[in-house]
Amino acid sequence: ETIGQNLRRTVERYGDREALVVASQNYRVTWRQFWDATTAVAKGLLALGIQKGDRVGLWSPNRFEWTVSQYALARTGAILVNLNPAYRTSELEYALNQAGVSVLLLAKGFRQTDYTQMLAEVRPRCAGLREALVLDSDWDRLMKGGAKIGDDVLEARELSLQFDDPINIQYTSGTTGFPKGATLSHHNVLNNGFFVGEVLRYGPEDRVCIPVPFYHCFGMVMGNLACTSHGSAMVIPGEAFDPLAVLQTVQAERCTSLYGVPTMFIAELDHPRFGEFDLRTLRTGIMAGSPCPVEVMKQVQSRMHMGEVTICYGMTETSPVSTQNPLDDTLEKRVATVGRVHPHLEVKVVDPDSGAVVPLGQPGELCTRGYSVMLGYWENAEATAAAIDRAGWMHTGDLATMDGEGYVKIVGRIKDMIIRGGENVYPREVEEFLHTHPEISEAQVIGVPSVKYGEEVMAWVRLKSGASLTPETLTAFCTGRISTFKIPRHWKFVDSFPMTVTGKVQKFRMREVSIAELG
Ligand code: ATP
Ligand code: MG
Repeated sequence: ETIGQNLRRTVERYGDREALVVASQNYRVTWRQFWDATTAVAKGLLALGIQKGDRVGLWSPNRFEWTVSQYALARTGAILVNLNPAYRTSELEYALNQAGVSVLLLAKGFRQTDYTQMLAEVRPRCAGLREALVLDSDWDRLMKGGAKIGDDVLEARELSLQFDDPINIQYTSGTTGFPKGATLSHHNVLNNGFFVGEVLRYGPEDRVCIPVPFYHCFGMVMGNLACTSHGSAMVIPGEAFDPLAVLQTVQAERCTSLYGVPTMFIAELDHPRFGEFDLRTLRTGIMAGSPCPVEVMKQVQSRMHMGEVTICYGMTETSPVSTQNPLDDTLEKRVATVGRVHPHLEVKVVDPDSGAVVPLGQPGELCTRGYSVMLGYWENAEATAAAIDRAGWMHTGDLATMDGEGYVKIVGRIKDMIIRGGENVYPREVEEFLHTHPEISEAQVIGVPSVKYGEEVMAWVRLKSGASLTPETLTAFCTGRISTFKIPRHWKFVDSFPMTVTGKVQKFRMREVSIAELG
């Protein structure tokens, strides 16, 4: 099945029910109206000469035009290239050229930035880009541009599409190096969205609040595709995350499910007006992206009424979800693990060197196999061959453990693991210990080369204001509390850490800086 065929079935079953609400734009459509909008835009794209396999960039924060375009593009067989709203000129230029984008749909701007100006700057160096349409001013033109194209023309195009055709190039976050474009098919993302909806038991009564960005799988797959494949309504509070707008939207729209990264839930719970809102319609949701503190999970379950909230683990290359908690999981499993393998997928934990499955409870590389594994990295056969082995396993690069019930715990990334004199040091363990110091605001741990030990542990630390720690006092704090080989031998005091646009710390950049400084 293609995304268009799947949407058509939902329209046939639930045509008059609500499909998409975008609170900030006052936009509200039924499934039938949503279908008609995607038809108009798909025809508009055909009128622009879009062929199957053409790459079309979408550079915009969350708006109804994003979702309509997502489905319109899938119906024409074009490949949607997600561009992060936080991209600046060099990232934009890279993605446009690497993916060979011929048509770009863009917002006029976002948060004090002018996208049209940035585009004008890079355009002379993007020879393949032949058309750029600004959503704010060209949307009507796009909707009407294909008015003369018959239904039969669009239908013929839709019938020519295969379920395993590529429809999406999503760039990874760039946490461990340069972002790579994961090429995903209808089959990859449609099924992953469908099974996320299955695990959450979505149905036509569900109304899912999606404050996470569409440009990422979290929004466009776990959000939009999970909803469209189950007839659940997509409810969008606004362009950018705003805790108050989320609380207002959940209440006004009687949402049953809410998504977010842990910091979003914290901002909602801590909002001074939290108590004013009736959130009792909430039942479930997804928290993903980073580990969730026990206390936050408890409050999400009690004060936000999300008894069935789940945690997901995944990566762009696997469309994205590989593991998720069952709805009725215990609090302990919910906070300490990323759940169990998703329906119709396989996961295993292996020794990265030998490839053999490691005993239960021992850390190794997590591998995923099944329908969700990407077609490959866009125009990067070498990286694809390094990531997906001949038996079809995606090597995630993440270190994990699995228990006897199949629950997976993420330990960290292989690239970040430190081997000091033959002993494995997991940075996350040292970071968690350092965070117990009352004067440390944030700590990030890396390995740096050492003649004597191969690698040595180094900590970058951001202190709380007024703190006056030194390498000596910190070493004394560690001594006797963690094993000697885990104690950082180098300390660096910083105000900030190198970060991706998605807010993840880039340890490879920390290593580059540290190696240069240590000489
Ligand atoms: P790049 O591949 O470019 O270095 P990235 O891996 O951060 O960047 P994404 O695909 O956005 O890009 O993120 C996937 C990664 O995020 C996973 O490989 C894993 O390391 C981490 N991750 C995802 N979900 C969780 C989770 N629930 N708990 C801990 N880590 C997670
Ligand atoms: Mg990655």
